[in-house]
Amino acid sequence: MNILIKGGRVLDPSRNLDADLDVLIEDGRVSQVGEKLKARGGETLDAAGLVVCPGFIDLHTHLREPGREDKETIATGTRSAAAGGFTAVCAMPNTEPVNDSAGITRAILERAAAEGVVRVWPIGAITKGSKGQELAEFGDLREAGCVAVSDDGRPVASSRMMRRALEYAKAFDLTVIDHCEEPGLTEGFAMNEGPVATWLGLRGYPPVAETIVVERDIHLAEITGGKVHIAHLSTAGAVDAVRRGKARGVRVTAEATPHHLLLTDQLVRDTEYDTSTKMNPPLRGDADRQAVVAGLADGTIDCIATDHAPHSVDDKKVEYDQAANGIVGLETAVALCLDRLVRPGLLELRQLVAALSTHPARVLGLPGGTLKPGSPGDVTVLDLERRFKVNPERFESKGRNTPFGSWQLTGRAVATIVGGRVAFQAR
Ligand SMILES: [Zn+2]
Repeated sequence: MNILIKGGRVLDPSRNLDADLDVLIEDGRVSQVGEKLKARGGETLDAAGLVVCPGFIDLHTHLREPGREDKETIATGTRSAAAGGFTAVCAMPNTEPVNDSAGITRAILERAAAEGVVRVWPIGAITKGSKGQELAEFGDLREAGCVAVSDDGRPVASSRMMRRALEYAKAFDLTVIDHCEEPGLTEGFAMNEGPVATWLGLRGYPPVAETIVVERDIHLAEITGGKVHIAHLSTAGAVDAVRRGKARGVRVTAEATPHHLLLTDQLVRDTEYDTSTKMNPPLRGDADRQAVVAGLADGTIDCIATDHAPHSVDDKKVEYDQAANGIVGLETAVALCLDRLVRPGLLELRQLVAALSTHPARVLGLPGGTLKPGSPGDVTVLDLERRFKVNPERFESKGRNTPFGSWQLTGRAVATIVGGRVAFQAR
């Protein structure tokens, strides 16, 4: 697969590169980055006025296949990823059945090879069935192709189990992706605990229920030498815990989602209980939100991840406290961050690109995240001036559950190239 991407501003945080250059991809790999390159067969993509980045990698995607193909499939989920500018997604294991064994991992990879339009990196479960009782076979999962382990969707409630998971994962050089929630404090929650929940009479999830487990697992990573990655971090306390953990050399990394960076629990009231504002962790108060933005800007938070969680209409068109948690994110994440973080100057473009490409690759040791010659020919092309109105009816994803419907945004991914092949191009 050959393609010449001509005349763009090449922004590659892995090499501190920001210059007007051409990128040549040959046989699916980056072969040259330089001036006035000549195509040797294959396509040419005119990138004048556009930004050419290492392909974006989403560390946190729920593809729902196997088992819930009514919500999403590997085919629709990866098309959604490409449309949003992602060249790779890490697939969370809370499918039906849970991806807790090599056979399921291989089946996911086979389906992805046949029907996926972007790369799919499976994540295996920490415990069998993600039930928190018995560790899965990490060696088998690793060998079958899993790039990390997680019981995402559920916390690992037992400290003893998490300690053993970190030790066991270390033996296979796997990162533990941690859904941090103290279940004793969150039972039956519908939204963030605080004045808005009190006003609405909904049961709350207090921010400390996240912070406690982030603190616990950073301490456990410290004594085991294991690697922990904090998923969808949403509280000021968690940002502080990660910052202190990093300062003393613990192997901890973290991600935040666009919705926790941009929205607050006030939206639950303002939308009159629109269930597309319901997720786990819930939208927080503004002090927490601002702390998460600050943590991203100062490098405490390494990555932006979508937590793309498609649901059927039936799962969402119910009473607020009964509704399924989660929103779709693959087709809105990049545009939201460009419009609401980079344009107002809260984050530099270089930082955003790093948080979506170089850092996620580094966190899990994935190929990509760089345009260095020899690396995979995965490229995301951005148009910073392209106007874009979020229209859920036109999503490639089967999910329509987003609180960002009708948002008018400026800036988006206009081309997604995977292994030298154009997986998506905006018209
Ligand atoms: Zn989660």
